[in-house]
Amino acid sequence: MSSQKIFLNGELVEKSEAKVSVFDHGLLYGDGIFEGIRAYNGRVFRFEEHLDRLYESAKAILLDIPLTKDEMREAVLKTIRANGLEDAYIRLVISRGVGDLGLDPQKCEAATVIIIASDITLYPDEFYENGLEVATVPTRRNIPEALNPRIKSLNYLNNILAKIEANRAGVLEAIMLNNEGYVAECTGDNIFIIKNGKLITPPTYIGALKGIKRGVVLEVAPEFDLEVAEEVFTRHDLYTADECFLTGTAAEVIPVVEIDGRQIADGNPGQYTKSLISKFRELANTTGTLIYEE
Ligand code: PMP
Repeated sequence: MSSQKIFLNGELVEKSEAKVSVFDHGLLYGDGIFEGIRAYNGRVFRFEEHLDRLYESAKAILLDIPLTKDEMREAVLKTIRANGLEDAYIRLVISRGVGDLGLDPQKCEAATVIIIASDITLYPDEFYENGLEVATVPTRRNIPEALNPRIKSLNYLNNILAKIEANRAGVLEAIMLNNEGYVAECTGDNIFIIKNGKLITPPTYIGALKGIKRGVVLEVAPEFDLEVAEEVFTRHDLYTADECFLTGTAAEVIPVVEIDGRQIADGNPGQYTKSLISKFRELANTTGTLIYEE
């Protein structure tokens, strides 16, 4: 996108003019929150859930968003329309704003609000057809008592370290364990396994984001005669699963076929996973908030 309009503190500005101060605490301290949302076929998918999570994250870090939820919804739609997009990845960033060099958030007068609507697509088709190879990594997911992974904060260093470790191990994505060694989530995705017709994902309280796509999968799984459970599981359960897949706004539903050098079942995406991918695509393309009036 050569010309791109960015929403910055109430105004739509050209990408080259969309600049934030070096004293912004989002930059200096990772003090802020974000959301990643997708639009498909002229509709914003699960828009309300993303807005709810944004405002819940703000509440958790005591951050005042200077827009009401209704104003934020309109601002997002306006930004997508200004860029003429039907399919989009939308990034919302709200930082504590400009302060001084100390970390005191009270010195920040107003939050910085950024909305970027972009046309990027993230994983190539072959990964949906053939599946991903992933690895568990040494860096553990933050413990909820320190920085709760349920807050979608700007502080992603934990996940970035895990991503670097996965890349160095020769795979694209990392599976992060929590401090007790239970499987938590990936660096930007939730994780699911299927074993004997039972679909299992870790409960969020052990240290995982309550992913919106995770919620979609939990909602539709019973249609495929899958028993659904939010339960802790270990690396052994990963290695011996019948199927494994990840969910996220960027990745959607993506099969995993190898973990730490162990093939999952026969090393091909499983039947349930394929059905869930089709169902997800159908929902994404036919439901959601219309961007342009009909
Ligand atoms: N876990 C983490 C750490 C994430 O950053 C994300 C979102 N990118 C997810 C899980 C998936 O959440 P969602 O389905 O809402 O995109």
